Amino acid sequence: MKEVEVDGLLVGHLPNLRYLFGFSGSQALALIIDREALLLVDSRYIDQAQKEVTNCQPVLSTPSLVHQLRELFTKHCRRRRVAVEAERIPYELVLRMESWGTDTNLVPTYGLIEELRSIKDDSEIDILREGFQLARSSLQTFLAEFRPGISENEAAAKLEYECRKAGSSGSAFDTIIASGSRSALPHGIASQKRIQADEPVVIDFGIRHQGYCTDMTRVLHRDLPEVIKIYSIVEEAQKAALDQIRPGVSSTEIDGAAREVITRHGYGPCFGHSTGHGLGLEVHEKPAISSRLPCTIEAGMVFTVEPGIYLPGQFGVRIEDVVVVTPNGYTLLSQ
Ligand code: ZN
Ligand code: ZN
Repeated sequence: MKEVEVDGLLVGHLPNLRYLFGFSGSQALALIIDREALLLVDSRYIDQAQKEVTNCQPVLSTPSLVHQLRELFTKHCRRRRVAVEAERIPYELVLRMESWGTDTNLVPTYGLIEELRSIKDDSEIDILREGFQLARSSLQTFLAEFRPGISENEAAAKLEYECRKAGSSGSAFDTIIASGSRSALPHGIASQKRIQADEPVVIDFGIRHQGYCTDMTRVLHRDLPEVIKIYSIVEEAQKAALDQIRPGVSSTEIDGAAREVITRHGYGPCFGHSTGHGLGLEVHEKPAISSRLPCTIEAGMVFTVEPGIYLPGQFGVRIEDVVVVTPNGYTLLSQ
């Protein structure tokens, strides 16, 4: 707030509220002003907020959050500079705030808290590590029972069931189980298609554990020579990307290393998406590991490395693992 020269900050993005204060409910607004943080919640969340939040004062807001915010603006924000999360606060709310006659100077800010969230501390890394252990053992249990002949949907339900049974609080995103030619769809969520014995299956799934998301992709394949060939190129690309990871390197170098391998083997156009994305309270967060958004990699960042090759009408292969950057390189959270 000092850096952007504001007196106050209005936060509405739920993952940011969870990060700052530990609030896990589904609706709230926080106004930080004069070294005080006020968390506006309605009656559904006041008990929960009083129990779970730290570093802020829960405020029961009646009849609505906006009504309460108007009172606080009138009291604390006259002719002050208040930052709003430009990508998160609805335009409708901005119009209202401007109509309150408090002459508050609303300053749009971008990714202030998201930037902080991109560097994980030890307690966050511990939660992520636990989450990945849970995801991995659930996948193993699922695979031990897995037989061809069931639909992708049923397979997804079984995998999600194992995750929930093991303690996950839910899926981080719609489970991708894509078999045969559907595996060429980078985001082919599970369908009613039956999985055959002789086709590759892409499994991309994530769980939520104490608010934090996991994300990893594995490919099941029989000994199909064309699949093995593509798989080994993707594996080589992933290794090349992993080899770049250390503090100080640019995210574009990591992306470029994977892309170079795939392009050298002649499949450049079949790898359309970026190489990875940050992971934490959201399944896609900073840093992006892409050629378009260069950023400098720092220790404590957690992100995926997930090159893929997709051959439309035939099949696709993606291998996705997650690293935490250490002072000397990285460690794998997924294995
Ligand atoms: Zn994934
Ligand atoms: Zn991913």
